[in-house]
Amino acid sequence: MKILLGVTGGIAAYKSLQLVRLWVQAGHQVQVVMTQGAKAFIQPLSFQALSGRAVRDALFDVSQEAGMGHIELARWADVLVVAPATANCLAKFRLGLAEDLLSTLLLAFEGPIFLAPAMNRVMWQQPATQENIEILRQRGFQIIPPESGEQACGEVGEGRMAEPETIVAQVMPEMSTHLIKGTKKSFWSQLPVLVTAGPTYEPIDPVRFMGNRSSGKMGFAIAQALAEQGADVILVSGPTALATPAGVKRIQVKTAKEMFAVVQDFYADAEVFISAAAVADYRVAEPSKQKIKKQQNVDTLTLKLVKNPDIVAWVAQQADKPFTVGFAAETEQLLTYARQKMKQKKLDMICANQVGDQQGFEQDENALWVLTEKEVYEIPQADKLQVARALLNYIQQGMQA
Ligand code: C5P
Repeated sequence: MKILLGVTGGIAAYKSLQLVRLWVQAGHQVQVVMTQGAKAFIQPLSFQALSGRAVRDALFDVSQEAGMGHIELARWADVLVVAPATANCLAKFRLGLAEDLLSTLLLAFEGPIFLAPAMNRVMWQQPATQENIEILRQRGFQIIPPESGEQACGEVGEGRMAEPETIVAQVMPEMSTHLIKGTKKSFWSQLPVLVTAGPTYEPIDPVRFMGNRSSGKMGFAIAQALAEQGADVILVSGPTALATPAGVKRIQVKTAKEMFAVVQDFYADAEVFISAAAVADYRVAEPSKQKIKKQQNVDTLTLKLVKNPDIVAWVAQQADKPFTVGFAAETEQLLTYARQKMKQKKLDMICANQVGDQQGFEQDENALWVLTEKEVYEIPQADKLQVARALLNYIQQGMQA
């Protein structure tokens, strides 16, 4: 998602640095536009360092316009957010003035616009400000209301800019119905996606099996994030106690062989295959038909194991393969092993996570490194659903690269 962030001249501008961080970490591209007033509070270089893009601040600067002109900039973005939005800029937006780069962009931009006002409580309560807000709201601007509390000026009241996390959450639905420029259609809308999740159980006899610690939470979170975005999700799940996310079609399996058979049936219709399952590498060659009895005076029992099919590697070898994403859970040399695995299995993308020491398996939170042949992204530790949403942005970028 491409975000234009307008920063105007208020002390809350320092909070917008965190806003940029959150969006960039979630895989979005952020272009910051500062007003002259904003530069009195924050150095453009701080925004540049976090966004990885030079800040735009001038309308008539030949060198800036030589890159992406202001109209191109307005066309480039999917969403425009002004945070903080001062009383002065609200008045300007209401009048439709185009006297600097940000106010011009507001007039030239056709997509959704969010405003996060921030000002002293008396200024916020002024009829002029309230009237400006009301009219902007009626015109379709989305207002992220200021919060109450202690203000930078020492007063207590309503006018503090909403916290960056709140702004991210408010803009999020716009991102999940992700606007492909000019349409209201999500990139993921109706896209067929096949996801595997959970462990596999490999039978030893009718009552025993070999399994692993995978809870299935990461794969289920991915399925949920996909369904939120309107994708057609088939989730092939090994044994877990998790509920099926709304809007997801679930196919339940136990063994790696069963999972493989289902994937073989469905992969060709999928545009994306995400292999989050912890598939057992080996299975018992010949599971006993009867319960294996404990033998008196026999201290060891030998089971012969045979290799399971590598499901994700098989999919990645097919001529009509979907965009294929694997996982690599490693206890050491995370990125090196993950990259090797991506090459060996011919994957388009691999998500590496550290396991062991209370990390990865069975946890509600996760942190991932996302690797493609050319790129490496970090998704910092967060709730698995948040991580899943960020991952979808990277998959989308990978598919569009
Ligand atoms: O080789 P390793 O098991 O570490 O690879 C992990 C990746 O391969 C995961 O994406 C997992 O879902 C997939 N895999 C598979 N079939 C197997 C083993 C692993 O699809 N038999």
